[in-house]
Amino acid sequence: MSRRRRGKRKKLEKEEKETTRKRRRRSYTRRRREFDAEAWLKRNIEELAQNLGLDTLGLTREELIETLVKIVEELAGASTYIDVNTMVKRFRRYYDRIAPLIAANIAEVRAHMTKEQLEFVASNIGDFILIFAPKLYSEAKRLGYSEDLMQILQQQWIRAWINRRGTPIPPRCPKCGFNALTPDLTCLVCGVALSDKELKASPEFKYMFKEFIKRASTEELEYVLKAGYVILSAHEVKSPKEPRTKVDIEIFLSANEKEEIRKELSNRRESQNSSRAN
Ligand SMILES: [Zn+2]
Repeated sequence: MSRRRRGKRKKLEKEEKETTRKRRRRSYTRRRREFDAEAWLKRNIEELAQNLGLDTLGLTREELIETLVKIVEELAGASTYIDVNTMVKRFRRYYDRIAPLIAANIAEVRAHMTKEQLEFVASNIGDFILIFAPKLYSEAKRLGYSEDLMQILQQQWIRAWINRRGTPIPPRCPKCGFNALTPDLTCLVCGVALSDKELKASPEFKYMFKEFIKRASTEELEYVLKAGYVILSAHEVKSPKEPRTKVDIEIFLSANEKEEIRKELSNRRESQNSSRAN
């Protein structure tokens, strides 16, 4: 894992922990001395994994231990001795918060995932998808996944983006379908670097450009012709005069696209003239 990704991951985890950090820090030294999560897991991993339904994911004993060690350490709290049942109860109690961590850890320990692992990770990853989407996308491609799983991932990505970074979301990448296209036309998920021409060849852009030409006022169209570019957001093409956000993308127009605008303007003039003549 790269340092940058680890850094981002740390940041997400830090946000999760912010509220109880002080208390934890105080108990940390003590717990370190008295509770050894790794040794505990080596004794209890089979029983714990079975109780949590993680034994059917095809992970090795070592992978399971690596996946769970930090979580077990946290959950042990100040306890010096803890039995499996109590640990399972603590897992269940905080499962909504723990499931994304388990999913992220599986995505991290496995170079490649099986279908079962990927499905588990995809449905539990939560906001950590902002870090693991590139890997989950490439694994889904490698395993020949249909649109269904991709759509689950794409929707999770949008939800996580809004949760962590707010609105608006970036425009959609025509290659992978994630709303992850940056203003320099590279994709945060599939890594593609598009040219203006490639982006504009996508059916989605063509549709939004046509809608813009229909919807825009004559003044707006004239302004775009002069400026030579339009703005692409996640939902629409708009004029450079409209309010812009930091995820919007400037798209320069080709001679053909300018021609489309000119045609629309001359159509409007003609229909104006004919209605005046009547
Ligand atoms: Zn992409």
